[in-house]
Amino acid sequence: MERRKFIKNASLTGVGLAVGTSVSSCRNLTEKKSIQTKPKEKMPIDISNFPIAICTWGFVKANAKAGEALLSGKNALDAAIEGVAVEEENLKNTTVGKGGAPDREGNVTLDACVMDSNGDCGAVVCVGGYTNVAALAKKVMEETPHVMLAGKGAEEFAKVQGFKKENLLTDASRKAWEEWKKSPEYKPIINIENHDTIGMLCIDKDGDIAGACTTSGLSYKMKGRVGDSPIIGSGLFVDNEIGGAAATGMGEEIMKTVGSFLIVELMRNGISPQEACEEAVNRIVSKNDRYKDFQIAYIAINKAGKTGAYCIHQGFSMMKYQNKKNERMEVDFFNKV
Ligand code: ASP
Repeated sequence: MERRKFIKNASLTGVGLAVGTSVSSCRNLTEKKSIQTKPKEKMPIDISNFPIAICTWGFVKANAKAGEALLSGKNALDAAIEGVAVEEENLKNTTVGKGGAPDREGNVTLDACVMDSNGDCGAVVCVGGYTNVAALAKKVMEETPHVMLAGKGAEEFAKVQGFKKENLLTDASRKAWEEWKKSPEYKPIINIENHDTIGMLCIDKDGDIAGACTTSGLSYKMKGRVGDSPIIGSGLFVDNEIGGAAATGMGEEIMKTVGSFLIVELMRNGISPQEACEEAVNRIVSKNDRYKDFQIAYIAINKAGKTGAYCIHQGFSMMKYQNKKNERMEVDFFNKV
């Protein structure tokens, strides 16, 4: 079929069907009758609530760093990048940045993305030898006509941009990998599944929202494997009119439901950040009998600064920095049996 016709037909059938499906489940949830492209009602915004920084897991120092950067007047994106850099540089964190666990062949490769309040975004995937990949993703956004750079291309770009080349495999990670190789079984374990990505969302003093997401991906992944974290819409999504969302957990499952985009779209339809995170988890568990074997967790924030979070299994927490208070909050979960 001629390409143009195919696209036209697809928009009348496939895409139409896809929209129909999401609308009907949205209706069940909200009893709203139409797709909202603008926020349903203008959210009452109290600027004195800002700034706010939230992030996945108990990354206390990273979240505090972002909160302090926001208080010092930095914009939401720069604060988020400064915040996640704390974990990228933390050698003890085996799931983000330098010190991250390698793939099955011993290569540490990192993925990251950023999205700003104008809706611009940048991403890098499968990058070896450079620690601050969220900052690199921002460079892709600002300095190239592209959104995503992968592998060698991203590494060459990092060099040109003046990023410092480093060996990302620490002695501890190498030893753990050598130990793993003795009986190389790929078996993620819930909550310690060796994948605690940092996804961070910030609202600055002006009320603008941006985010960053950075990871070394699943430990002992196949060479070349990329998960949800650097995929805009899956690991992270921000719409400055509505809010933002970020994900952590089994990337393959998050990608199948484009979870972060879904959460922002649900919030656009008037749903709270908490309900939106719950619905995004429901989409996964309702279609996947294997949910008992993996963790997925989402965090979200709306334009008014209300936050939400939800996960499949107990054990996930999030951080929230507001009014100079950096708080760790346990997150409600689906699997209560
Ligand atoms: N979502 C990440 C990935 O699949 C891992 C994680 O969040 O822990 O690469």
